[in-house]
Amino acid sequence: MNLRGVRELHRVQKSYFPLLTVKCIFEAVSPYITVFFSAQVLKELAGLRREEVLWNWVIAGTICICVLAIINAFLKQRHETLLNDLWGRKEILFIHKMFSLDFSELDKQENHDLRAQIKQNENWASWGLMRSQRAYERFVTGMIGMISGITLTVTLFTSPVPKTAGRLVILNNPIFILIFAAVMVGISVFSGKLSGIAQKSWSNYADFATLGNRLFWHFGFIGLDKKRSVDIRMNDQQGLVAAYWDGNSVFGVDGPLGKMFMGKMGIYSSMGVCMTVLITGFVYVFTCLKAWAGAFDVGSVTQYVGAATAMIANIFAFTELISLMETNTSYLDKTFEFLDIPNAMYQGSLTTEKRSDRNYEIEFKDVSFKYPGSDVWSLRHVNMKFKVGQRLAIVGENGSGKTTFIKLLCRLYDPQEGQILLNGIDIRKYKYDDYMDIFSIVFQDFQLLCQPIGANVAGNADYDRDRAYKALVDAGFGERLESLEKGLDTMIYKDLSDDGIDVSGGEAQKIAIARALYKDAPFIILDEPTAALDPIAEAEIYSKFDDISGDKTAIYISHRLSSCKFCDEIAVFGEGQVIQKGTHEKLLEDHAGKYYELWNAQAQYYVEEV
Ligand code: ADP
Repeated sequence: MNLRGVRELHRVQKSYFPLLTVKCIFEAVSPYITVFFSAQVLKELAGLRREEVLWNWVIAGTICICVLAIINAFLKQRHETLLNDLWGRKEILFIHKMFSLDFSELDKQENHDLRAQIKQNENWASWGLMRSQRAYERFVTGMIGMISGITLTVTLFTSPVPKTAGRLVILNNPIFILIFAAVMVGISVFSGKLSGIAQKSWSNYADFATLGNRLFWHFGFIGLDKKRSVDIRMNDQQGLVAAYWDGNSVFGVDGPLGKMFMGKMGIYSSMGVCMTVLITGFVYVFTCLKAWAGAFDVGSVTQYVGAATAMIANIFAFTELISLMETNTSYLDKTFEFLDIPNAMYQGSLTTEKRSDRNYEIEFKDVSFKYPGSDVWSLRHVNMKFKVGQRLAIVGENGSGKTTFIKLLCRLYDPQEGQILLNGIDIRKYKYDDYMDIFSIVFQDFQLLCQPIGANVAGNADYDRDRAYKALVDAGFGERLESLEKGLDTMIYKDLSDDGIDVSGGEAQKIAIARALYKDAPFIILDEPTAALDPIAEAEIYSKFDDISGDKTAIYISHRLSSCKFCDEIAVFGEGQVIQKGTHEKLLEDHAGKYYELWNAQAQYYVEEV
């Protein structure tokens, strides 16, 4: 699991792990090199005291340690930069996943919850992918550190004390040496385990932390949210926010997390550290006794104690790492559950050749559909056919299935029953991107990006400026565009640029409509992007749009009948079914029909229009 975490991170930042490996090697070896040179100097001082030899050791040691320090500083600096980069880039994994997920999966609340949980685990204590990075770092440092430590401490155990050392000759006894080495390693492992248990407490409190983080992110930044500022003041919501801060104890001193740090986690952690100190003490005694008995000189004491202490620290860290990796596995489970969500939608391979005659025909053949997790049919036995060049209206009350019809047409979902055909072939058999190229859609909840107006219209930073300009003028945004100093390069919204502009709801709609015009697809669909306008204004936009959409097929969706009465064909939706079809005039003739009933009910809004 942790290894896969490293692999995934390596995919998005190729330079990081090789550099980290080199950094770990240098960091692990550096303390031993310092210990080695100090020991040589001390040995000479305590022994023959040759001036020239002393100078040589001092100079060689100083150069080596300086060079190492410079290399370490360079590696550290580079590592910090790449690590920051990695933090940002790991988001690419999630962004790609979000972008490539089937819409039906993306639409599921459980998948959004899963993503939110992964994010919270990361905010909470870097659990998940970034812990794999730390695990890798510790693994390499620990391994190299242990190997270097063993190399430097072997002679601590093998150098015999002279026979004349009396009772201290026991220090030569292989069984004694074995027991001592085993105790040293055993206690280091045990103390690492204790510390690991302490770390595991983090996961026991993960639910608390998740809740705490959710509350924190919600309430902590509510004051910065521009959209809420009026509402908060008007409804005196400050008190509610303050009540959260006063009552929130998840991260407080007396909260469950505070108690965890003071309690079990603190105790296990301190016990682990105490054990390490204890074993370091034993090593000191053992080394000094051997030097006292004459196994080696005083200078070597520094080397052995330094090397053995560093080795104990590495064994400790290595054992703790294993517990950390185990704990992290449960967090990585969530990460990979998300990254591995399969795309179940069938992907066809046919191309929808861009026909110059734009001669396309779409047919819904007995289509029925329920949203995932719902028992209710949102569309039932829908039959409809429309040809390029037609003006089709889909009307009906809210909830009657109009948007669902469009979502199926765009293959955001596949129907459970029936077929949707493009020129007689099931739309599932076409390449999705190709198929989508024939539609321009403006949904009710369209979104503009904090990007220049032109780029918003084209959906690309590199675009045809003349076409974008024309689309904006055709959509009715020309006058405002002329008044903008930077024209197409004017940033929308101020979030990313001080000289960005705020656009009204109506202007945003025009930009969204221009986006659909720029795409120049044979089918244009307006799914109530004008719902916020009054019925008369909506009707005006729809009929203006009708003028500019030329030879394209336009599909208008609205629950307001007046907006669409000019269309060649009007399909009336009711409870997921097409209950009537025909022209406005024909539909009005049927006094018992839904259209007649709705028309009369809505007539009061547009009396002048009737
Ligand atoms: P309209 O566009 O006519 O207002 P919709 O197509 O949005 O209607 O909705 C048709 C039916 O499908 C409604 O009963 C609505 O509650 C249901 N519905 C819409 N979206 C979802 C969804 N994501 N999950 C479950 N049911 C949905």
